[in-house]
Amino acid sequence: MNDIHHSLFQLFESSPVLVAAYDDFDRLRYANKAFRSAYFIEPCETPFWPDLMRRNHHAKRGTVIRAADFEEWLISTQSRRGKIGFKAFETDLFDGRWLWMTETVREDGWMLCIATDVTDLKASAREIRQDRDLAIKASYTDVLTGVANRRFVTARIEDMLQRQVSDELSSLGCLCVLDIDHFKSINDQFGHHNGDLVLKDLAKRIHRLVRRTDCFGRVGGEEFVLTLPATSIEQARRIVERMLVSVRQSRPLKDRPDFKYTFSVGVAAAKPGDTSISLFSRADRALYVAKLAGRDQIHIDDSSSD
Ligand code: GH3
Ligand code: MG
Ligand code: MG
Repeated sequence: MNDIHHSLFQLFESSPVLVAAYDDFDRLRYANKAFRSAYFIEPCETPFWPDLMRRNHHAKRGTVIRAADFEEWLISTQSRRGKIGFKAFETDLFDGRWLWMTETVREDGWMLCIATDVTDLKASAREIRQDRDLAIKASYTDVLTGVANRRFVTARIEDMLQRQVSDELSSLGCLCVLDIDHFKSINDQFGHHNGDLVLKDLAKRIHRLVRRTDCFGRVGGEEFVLTLPATSIEQARRIVERMLVSVRQSRPLKDRPDFKYTFSVGVAAAKPGDTSISLFSRADRALYVAKLAGRDQIHIDDSSSD
């Protein structure tokens, strides 16, 4: 077996095909020579994907990013990256090469990336294919906050419910419904524009605390959903508590330095036989309890710990 590993390693190193693996925290754990050279990675480095993208973007190398605001592009891309089993797309590098990139995600969150150089292939229809990819991306993205929209996050709830749980003790996962507290009065007092800034601030803060296998999206006005596949209620509670703390510390309005806001969360654990609707309605009921209990807190659906 060791011989095979060694030979595979040598093959990867000498192949022009780009090969890389990221772990469930989106940290690069392996990259062959072709991948390292395309993305300017030293042999022993294991950067996180967002850091790698950011430093290459600032140095004008690696992936070409056609967005006015890099950090917004990052949020929007991360909110969809590595959340479905397989994805393939065209992407180009500053050096002029076009790559056909495939991403294969294992259930434990590890992701294999394989890219081949397609610079000389079917170049004429490339613009149409890029436009199509942008349209698909737009259909999954919330315009205001850049995070996933209802369509994308609902499909991730379905994925979570369809997962086969081999180990009886491990959980299917949890669904969280988040809602900003007293948002109507924020709008009324500070205006719709500032209301929008609060929505963007929430999305940015929560997004930072979301793991790659989780999915965070905006499903309505000031209502958001977070899927936590293969996560227990207790883990979910810890994750959400960190989010509540982060938002409590936020002062998102520059001209109102004292302004702060909070949100409330309802959480329900998925059960075998659940549909996205039944699971959502239990989380939504829990949210209602959190609101009644005084807001700025998490409430866990009573039947979730059975
Ligand atoms: P609660 O703490 O019970 O959640 O109170 P609330 O005021 O947040 O709840 P309510 O559902 O009464 O108000 C939600 C408000 O969100 C109403 C609407 O004006 C506002 N809203 C919905 N979508 C947007 C948006 O895209 N931008 C802004 N600025 N406001 C929005
Ligand atoms: Mg609200
Ligand atoms: Mg609401």
